[in-house]
Amino acid sequence: MYPLRGAVRNYSWGSHTALAELTGRPAPTEEPEAELWLGAHPAAPAVVDEDGTTVSLLDLIARDPEGQLGSECAREFDGRLPFLLKVLAAEQPLSLQAHPSRAQAREGFARENDAGIPLGAPHRNYRDDNHKPEMVVALSRFEALAGFRAPTETVEFLRDLSVPELTPYASELGDHLDATGLRALFTAWMTLPTKSLVALTDAVLAGCERYLAARAGSDDEFTVAARTALDLGRAYAEDPGVIASLLLNRVSMEPGDALFLPAGNLHAYLRGTVVEIMANSDNVLRGGLTSKHVDVPELLRVLDFGSVDVPWVRARIDRGECLYAPPVCEFELVRAELDLSGTSRPTSAAFGGPASRILLCVEGSAQLRCSDQILNLERGEAAWVPGSDPELVVQARSPHATVFAATLPVPSEST
Ligand SMILES: [Zn+2]
Repeated sequence: MYPLRGAVRNYSWGSHTALAELTGRPAPTEEPEAELWLGAHPAAPAVVDEDGTTVSLLDLIARDPEGQLGSECAREFDGRLPFLLKVLAAEQPLSLQAHPSRAQAREGFARENDAGIPLGAPHRNYRDDNHKPEMVVALSRFEALAGFRAPTETVEFLRDLSVPELTPYASELGDHLDATGLRALFTAWMTLPTKSLVALTDAVLAGCERYLAARAGSDDEFTVAARTALDLGRAYAEDPGVIASLLLNRVSMEPGDALFLPAGNLHAYLRGTVVEIMANSDNVLRGGLTSKHVDVPELLRVLDFGSVDVPWVRARIDRGECLYAPPVCEFELVRAELDLSGTSRPTSAAFGGPASRILLCVEGSAQLRCSDQILNLERGEAAWVPGSDPELVVQARSPHATVFAATLPVPSEST
């Protein structure tokens, strides 16, 4: 196993304090720090030290895919680490987005290649032919928009706002309380000419202000959604994402809560810090709330208007370990709460199975042992454990330690 140093990405929406505090650096930082990448993605691979030299995890794996990933994973994923683990720290909302399915990604990637759009072009939608399901587990309170709200509730919300300009839209949706109605409404708003968009947004935001003034102190979902629309309106002018936010589930997550964003789920992260894990892909279709490339027609092609539940992931809890296992073959995540009292070895496959794994300590101090090799992880530190390493033993070095392990799902009959 190796100590693993992640790569910090400085996007404008990032936090000036969260990642620095997590990794023990002075805060606030001069640049916003949005993401810490712990993986083997070519754009920013994490690094390890090998005999005094710095080696990227990408190169380490490329040199010996079977030894590093384990033979099964190397075979199944073409010698590449199939997931990317991140810590994401948002101080401001980031873009309204969705990710394609594998079939959509394959088709879109080929189509853009045929059209001769260079891979690095800012207006390129599909940078690879893979899907990008993602899951987030909150480290702090985390605010997000995730998936369309049930249309009946959205009609109620739009009517409650008492904005005359919204009445025809609410009636239209009220007549079609299903995926078709949602698609029609979302499409209408996302494709409004700028002048009409600005007029409607101004009316809606004025309505939100009146709505909030009449409900001072309230904290129900509609109140929070109205407040969010106002916040987004202040940050993004002439952006259809502001009114589109009214159609989405407004989610507040406590530490340990998790969301899974499957293909076609429209989402936007608003504020807070999460551990995020995703399939190794860069395919993002954006609809707004960003200065990056937005492609509404392409977004509309991939969106799923049929699922209206908040996509919570219910962790399976077993002896101090929470297993977050969404329905994908590329990753799962375990959060282990360790103390000095007893169990020195988490029992799940995420820590002991035959696949490689990335460990990340987010609280306290932990010790990793692989036969006679010992590695101490302090808060904010990570480790790469190759699939060929002997069984891993993890224990707390402080009264309480929290360690995440990212790995491949292991079929339950083999554990
Ligand atoms: Zn996303």
